[in-house]
Formats: sequence, structure tokens, C-alpha cells
Amino acid sequence: MKLKFILFAFLISLPCASQSDSETLKLIYNTALSNGKSYEWLDYLSNQIGGRLSGSLNAERAVAWTKEELEKLGLDKVSLQPVMVPKWVRGTPEFAFIETSPGKTTNVNICALGGSVATPALGIKARVIEVKSIEELETLGREKIEGKIVFYNRPMEPTLINTFESYGGCVDQRHKGAVEAGKYGALGVIVRSMNLRMDDLPHTGSMTYGDTPVSQRIPSAAISTKDAVLLSSMLKLDKNIKFYFKQNCKQLKDVLSYNVIGEIRGSEFPNEYIIVGGHLDSWDLGDGSHDDGAGVVQSMEVLRLIKESGIKPKRSIRVVLFMNEENGLRGGKKYAREAKRKGENHIFALESDSGGFTPRGFSFECSNANFNQVLTWKSLFEPYLIHYFEKGGSGADVGPLKTNYNVVAGLRPDSQRYFDYHHASNDTFDAVNKRELELGAATMTALVYLYDTYGVNPIKTDQQIKD
Ligand SMILES: [Zn+2]
Repeated sequence: MKLKFILFAFLISLPCASQSDSETLKLIYNTALSNGKSYEWLDYLSNQIGGRLSGSLNAERAVAWTKEELEKLGLDKVSLQPVMVPKWVRGTPEFAFIETSPGKTTNVNICALGGSVATPALGIKARVIEVKSIEELETLGREKIEGKIVFYNRPMEPTLINTFESYGGCVDQRHKGAVEAGKYGALGVIVRSMNLRMDDLPHTGSMTYGDTPVSQRIPSAAISTKDAVLLSSMLKLDKNIKFYFKQNCKQLKDVLSYNVIGEIRGSEFPNEYIIVGGHLDSWDLGDGSHDDGAGVVQSMEVLRLIKESGIKPKRSIRVVLFMNEENGLRGGKKYAREAKRKGENHIFALESDSGGFTPRGFSFECSNANFNQVLTWKSLFEPYLIHYFEKGGSGADVGPLKTNYNVVAGLRPDSQRYFDYHHASNDTFDAVNKRELELGAATMTALVYLYDTYGVNPIKTDQQIKD
């Protein structure tokens, strides 16, 4: 009887890790949902600052404002990390129409792709050749392409559940459509917007000319999905119809900008860094609320929730607001370079750059040992309907931090609506739901808390071996 009692007393006095972890997670979610700050921050970033193209005045205002807000949180350190970024400007609104016969025109919705050159001042008018892929250009050859506008019209694949896969299957048209068509003497390029929905909104995004000399670069623009369908059907009726477009965008000289960094110093292992981040720059058509205002405010909220919940991190926790993810990734590369130079041991990096929608889980780039570790935490997330724990891509900005031993990850929200807004003029504050945004911030904080508590599998790194 007595032994039994002693055993019982011993058992209840044992610290039960999972019990306290689930309590801490509950506290984090409760705080995020009842006393969150991310939505209010996003309101300001979207509605008072707006679209934040790299090198723009708004981007600089976003740097100054987020620094100021982080300073209010009473972190141990807030700093700006200088980085040179490209500056591309859209100029006056683009204009385009389909001409079925001289003087008979139908206006269509286009926007210049980021990084594109302008058309000549009077625009370009030419016949159109529709293709479904870059490979098709080769089949057609110079004879059928020269002097025409190439129209890339391969839609996003609707049967893929992960819409990012669908995007990945199409984005080559936008990214290198112009450089490839230019090789066959095309005058310009029109690309069907990366959008699963039928609407009137053109979606911009980055494109590249590779090492094509400036004089041989041809302009490229995105056309809305509805107008892509219209153009395609008109071409079927008459392949001699003409397309006109005019844009006066411009690539200027690189300018100085910044990554914004806030830090809570670790109490036990200050040189083990855990970072959370999103990108501060956005495209210019909307105000970049989903891409990536959501990731910015969620990452800021992670540090605020840690403090608000009374968690005293053992490791150093940083929020990094990266500059220039959209058209250069200069911020992400600069941060990783500096981390390496300073010998900062980044054990875990988490990015939110997939929209502010209902979180489903995370995708991880890591060793099997580290993946098995994270799977042991999966059940802690069940009450919050977070179930997606898979190996896969992390995020563009945290990617350069990947080493053989650490873990880099991306928050994975539901992706069904993301491409309705991505890089288009409707990516605005009203498209973001408060609770979905807050759940994302809480989910990120919960994972950061677990990595802070348990660390990663201690595989020796070059750095550690040297020490
Ligand atoms: Zn983004």
C-alpha cells in the first residue's frame, strides 16, 4: 500500500513534457486568437503603406514602420541589414486590344511582367502566334514566329490539389517566355495569367532576359484568363487578327534597401538561432496583403506571442523581414551570407510566404532524423486541425540558409484561393481573413517554441567541429 503510494507520488511529480507542451501550445493559440496583433499590423501595412515594390518609396516606408513596431515589442535587438536591390518601375498603365479588322477593336486587360522592357512609344501591333509551351516554339521555327507576338496560353492544371504544383507547371512561360521567343524573332510576348479562376485581372510576376543584350530584349505582358480565352477563340476564327499593346516600364539602377531584423536573445544557447520570416517587398498592382504582408505580420507576431505568453527562449529567436524576394531575392541571399560570415548557427528557419489562409501544416527540408523528430510533435497540433507535415520546399528567402544538419521549413496554408490573388490588383487587405491569419501566426509560434525547447538533432557541423 505504502509502496504504491510512493510510486504514485513519484509519478505525479515527474515532469510530463507533452502535457506542458500541449498547455503552452494552448496558451499560444488562445493569445493569438483573443489578443492578436497581426491583423491590425496588416491593416496598416496594406492600407496605410500599400504595394511595396523593391526600391520604391513604399518599400522604404515599410522598412521604417516595421522597425518601429518591432522596437515597441521590447526585443533585445532590432536592426536594419543593408542590401542593394533592383528597381523596376511600371510607368503609366498598360493598354492593349485585339483588332479583328482595321478600326474594329476589343480592349483586353494586360500588365507588364516585372523586369520587362517597354514597347516602343507607339506600342506594338502584330499578328499573333499561340503556343502552349516553350518547346512548341522550336517546332514552329523562325518562319512562323518572326515579326509576330507570341501568345503563351497553357493554363494552370486544375486537377492538382496543391495549386503551387500547378503554378510550378506553368510559370516557365512567364519567367523565360520572352527570352525564348526573342530567339525566333518575335516582337513581343503575351502570357496567360497564372490564375485558376476566370476573371479580368492580369497577374504580374518576375521574368528574366538571362544574358540577352539589352537591344535584343522584347517586351512581355500578362493577360487576364478571360481575355486569354477570348484571344484564343478569336484566333481560331481568324489567325490573321492583330494584337496591340503598349507599356512603358523601365529598369533603373540598383538602390539601397534593408532587411529588418528583430531578436530575442537566447538564455542558454544564444548562438543557436531560430528564425521566422516573410518578405517585405511585394508587387505593385495590389497592396501585397497575401503576398507577403501576411507572412510579414505573422512573423512579427511570433516574437510578440512568445513574449506575451511568458516564454523565455533558450535559443535566440529572430524575425527577419526580407527585402526583394519577388524580383531578385537579394535580401534572402544577403542574410544567409552574413549569417555564415558571422558563424551564426541557424538550427531552424521558418518562412510564411504562401498567403494568409487557414494553416494546414508545414513542409520541411531536413534530414530523416530531423524529420522523424518533428513527426513526434505532430499530435500536439491536432486540436488546431494542423495535420500536414511533409518533406518538401521551404521558402525562397530561407532556402539559402539550408545546411546538412539544420531544418528549414515553410508554413503551408490551404492553397485553393491563393492564385485568385497572387500578384494581381485584388491582393488587398479585404482578401485576408482575421482568424485564418491569426491561426497561421499561432501555428508558426508553436513550432518555434518546440524547436526552442528541444533543438535539432545534434549532427556535427563544420563550424562545430572547428570550435
Ligand atoms: Zn511571396
